[in-house]
Amino acid sequence: MRPLLLALALIPFAAAQAHDEHEHGSLGKHEHSVAQLNVALDGSTLELEVDSPAMNFVGFEHPASSAADQATVAAARAQLGKPLELVQAPAAAKCGVAEVELESPLFGNAKAHDHDDDGDEHEGHQHSDINAHYKLTCAAPEALTSLDFAPLFKRFPGTQKLVVQLIGPNGQQGAELTPASSLLKF
Ligand SMILES: [Zn+2]
Repeated sequence: MRPLLLALALIPFAAAQAHDEHEHGSLGKHEHSVAQLNVALDGSTLELEVDSPAMNFVGFEHPASSAADQATVAAARAQLGKPLELVQAPAAAKCGVAEVELESPLFGNAKAHDHDDDGDEHEGHQHSDINAHYKLTCAAPEALTSLDFAPLFKRFPGTQKLVVQLIGPNGQQGAELTPASSLLKF
């Protein structure tokens, strides 16, 4: 369900990202504590897509085999399923969640990957991402002047930076959000 957002957000940046291609393949950047965030507001539809190392949300990236790890993954998955608890939209915009998609090898619905170019699966070298895609519908999108990601940084302290591409009424812009500067202005 993400072709629209991906097409809008990524195609203009294909050239800029090309230099990463040989290191990261089609999986995009994978840097612990950093997550990529695409935001697109089109009419009353607000789409958010988060691509993050699983480390940022659960603290590890290996398959969850122990009961404790499984509980951690389940809790993170449940929390990621409630985007309006992680992102504060202005109440006047009257946004509601229309769709949520969560994908990760840790959730059993995406493949793990190996960053070693030689294909060796050395223990400890396997990385996993978590991809979250949200579609929200906002009854008063003109009131959507900003989004505050402070709750996400608070709930998932392993996340220290969001690298944002925003497409909104004022065009396309990039931004970097941190716990100290968590407000994304449209
Ligand atoms: Zn990793």
